[in-house]
Amino acid sequence: MVIRKNSVIWVSLFLLAIPLFGQGQSAPKAKPRVIVVGVNGMELDIIRPLILKGQMPNLASVIEKGAYGKLRTVSAPNCPRVYTTVFTSTDPDEHGVTGFVVGGITANTNMLKEEPIWSMLSKNGITVGMANVPATFPVMPVNGYMISGMLTRGKNCEDGVLCAPKLSEVMGGDAVYPRSLQADLLKNVGDFYIDCERMPSAADLKGHEAAVIDQWLARVQLIREQQTKLFDYLLTEHPTDFTFMAQSCEDRTGHWLYPITPFNVGYNPNINAVRQDAFPNQYIAFDKVLGTVLKHVDANTYLLILSDHGIKPLREFEEKDPHAHVDHEKTTPVIAKHDFADGDDVPGSFFAMGPGIKSDFRLMGLGASVYDIAPTILHIYGLEQAKQMRGHVLTEIFGATENKVAVHK
Ligand SMILES: [Zn+2]
Repeated sequence: MVIRKNSVIWVSLFLLAIPLFGQGQSAPKAKPRVIVVGVNGMELDIIRPLILKGQMPNLASVIEKGAYGKLRTVSAPNCPRVYTTVFTSTDPDEHGVTGFVVGGITANTNMLKEEPIWSMLSKNGITVGMANVPATFPVMPVNGYMISGMLTRGKNCEDGVLCAPKLSEVMGGDAVYPRSLQADLLKNVGDFYIDCERMPSAADLKGHEAAVIDQWLARVQLIREQQTKLFDYLLTEHPTDFTFMAQSCEDRTGHWLYPITPFNVGYNPNINAVRQDAFPNQYIAFDKVLGTVLKHVDANTYLLILSDHGIKPLREFEEKDPHAHVDHEKTTPVIAKHDFADGDDVPGSFFAMGPGIKSDFRLMGLGASVYDIAPTILHIYGLEQAKQMRGHVLTEIFGATENKVAVHK
């Protein structure tokens, strides 16, 4: 394994200064607490009607108490490409994780060419917890813990691309830092799947569409329940100043079960007329996960919810042959996607609440972007944004009460 020189520098700088995991209880003063919940591919077109129908009460409460809006993403957005932009506030060509596969190799943290937010926070004495965040495999040392997410390789998921190895069956690197936490997780959370289930192939579906869809959705729900248990356990037993957790089954479902009509590209009644609620149901289920996270959010906690991109049905004018559309070189008949050349076609979304953040405040247009997340988190901790960062602090979300917050020293 090639470890980049930069990685070695990031790691050694903070390891010298910081007590090991589990030994840092003597911190003298409270630091701001930030919880980030990442959702892969949250689509506002689907979410807004659910909110109106009262089916996402937890997200609705965050909107009411906080700021929200679209989140501009990068061109041809996909998960590793955007999340790594979120981590570093730099362009994909700069940070090195340009997609799922880079130079023929599944994207991994050894490719990182810019310093990620978890390293910056760790070096500044902030405790960091990361769970199931895409593109964090193999895990890197932090001042806390890191459990990898999408792109983790293992049994039945050898290339790590859009599949789900079990924690005990991970291969080709560590999925948990520190290693001692792995036994703790296996004991207290169980042998959970990392990332979301692989989509079924066209051959698996043919002739058994409804059964395969239902089986797949059941697996997705199992994974979500495992993740909820994991998040709840970590927030309860291993609380950190900064916690970043993500889930990815929503997007995976949207790709092939987006509720489309007979007039959409790729419509196949055997698949697309079977469980039309499957995709909206993912967000209703996400809202319950959010409810679990919200139990850990007090008046002094910042909660940021973000998605890396939206997802939209395929388009006739761009997609000449819908049957040529398979996801990431597998054979699932996909009907929606997000890697449109113009990222503004599929913006992500952003929701924030916490001390000093305006309530019921809407960010208009595409003024907030995935590049702004890391600078804004650093700002909450009173840290300057790094010079290579291309985003800006989302000052517009902070209200007049900001000076009441322990943001600036
Ligand atoms: Zn996707």
